[in-house]
Amino acid sequence: MYNCIICRYHEIATKGSNRGMFERCLAENVRHLLKTLPDAKVSRVRGRVRVELEGKRVFTPEELELVKTQLSKCFGLESFSPAVITPVDMERIRPPAVELAASALAGRPGKTSFRVRARRSNKRVPLSSKEIEIDLVTAVAERTGAEKFTIDLNRAEITLGCEVRDEFAVIYMENFPAPGGLPVGCNPRVLTLLSGGIDSPVAAWMIMKRGSPCDFLTFHSAPYTPPETLEKVRRLASKLNEFQLHGALCAANLSELQKAVRDNCKERYRTVLYRRAMMRIAAMTAERRRCHALVTGESLGQVASQTVPNMYAIGKAVDMLILRPLVGCDKLETIRLAEEIGTYEISNVQVPDSCTVFAPSAPCTTSEPDLLEQEERKIDGYWQILEKIAANVEEWT
Ligand code: ATP
Ligand code: MG
Repeated sequence: MYNCIICRYHEIATKGSNRGMFERCLAENVRHLLKTLPDAKVSRVRGRVRVELEGKRVFTPEELELVKTQLSKCFGLESFSPAVITPVDMERIRPPAVELAASALAGRPGKTSFRVRARRSNKRVPLSSKEIEIDLVTAVAERTGAEKFTIDLNRAEITLGCEVRDEFAVIYMENFPAPGGLPVGCNPRVLTLLSGGIDSPVAAWMIMKRGSPCDFLTFHSAPYTPPETLEKVRRLASKLNEFQLHGALCAANLSELQKAVRDNCKERYRTVLYRRAMMRIAAMTAERRRCHALVTGESLGQVASQTVPNMYAIGKAVDMLILRPLVGCDKLETIRLAEEIGTYEISNVQVPDSCTVFAPSAPCTTSEPDLLEQEERKIDGYWQILEKIAANVEEWT
């Protein structure tokens, strides 16, 4: 009998004069995620986003499943509930409230703990929220018999929610969590360096959660890496795109640079030299695509290239903001998030990675930018190689 989805947000509510921009962005994201429901109407109502179907049609069970799957990926939303929407009038609120509670209670054997949670932002309604709760509990008891439930205000098995707002009231039984954060699109676009590993997809997700849409750039080393390396990243990008409107996936072939590093530079610096080259090619690609920062899945101390001196030396290669949202995470935290997002099972398939091509046996953990520049100067036409790779970046959609 649900004819509405009521969506709640949290962080946006703390915004000042530009709150409207965030709310519009959130509503757009909800609309996008529900695009397979062509008659869904999404509207902003102070402090909430409301979804209804054309002609106040009731959601089918299949449509509700779809809404649950889709809105649980909506950044900016805190939670949402399938609800019955009614005019602000106890005579109209009471029947569907009783109907919902009675059918939930009927589905359980014996006595069930139950409560009503009311919120009233409409001050013209004569009843206080406490009085609304009492009114509805009484009506439910009249229908089911008082022996069907015990009231438990703290940890009830069944909660009936009722919000009485200025323009309408909603009644609901369930509250589904959403990921929170800020709606994608309220911050500028960024470019995530996406490998096939566990970390970088999680890093992209965390930055999307802060409102920045992500394009993706992956480095491969064909013919030294197989086509499966790219196929895996394509699957990761498409999983991540479930959380945003659209992010392009770009691929760069790093093998020419890797060969030049192998043939001209000290072996122990190879990994960091690859990383500096990646950053530079990524910065060129970002500029071309109007992306305002680079994102990586680096986490302090995780591998040789992620020591403090090496991260400094890698960052020094470009004059662009590098976001490293996982810098303080340990691997288990990242794995847990990857499982939640749905990228872990894709990342966990082992395929050769671009960074392992000609990888040194003992990578340096304390490189310095000056020394690395000296190494880079040993390569004839270093910048031409980088520019050529950047010019040949392929976009996959
Ligand atoms: P991940 O699990 O994300 O691969 P990692 O622990 O393997 O991370 P590194 O291989 O040192 O760490 O990579 C650090 C970061 O550099 C990655 O998180 C990613 O952002 C970027 N990176 C590494 N390899 C590639 C690649 N082949 N293509 C694009 N970006 C890469
Ligand atoms: Mg990796």
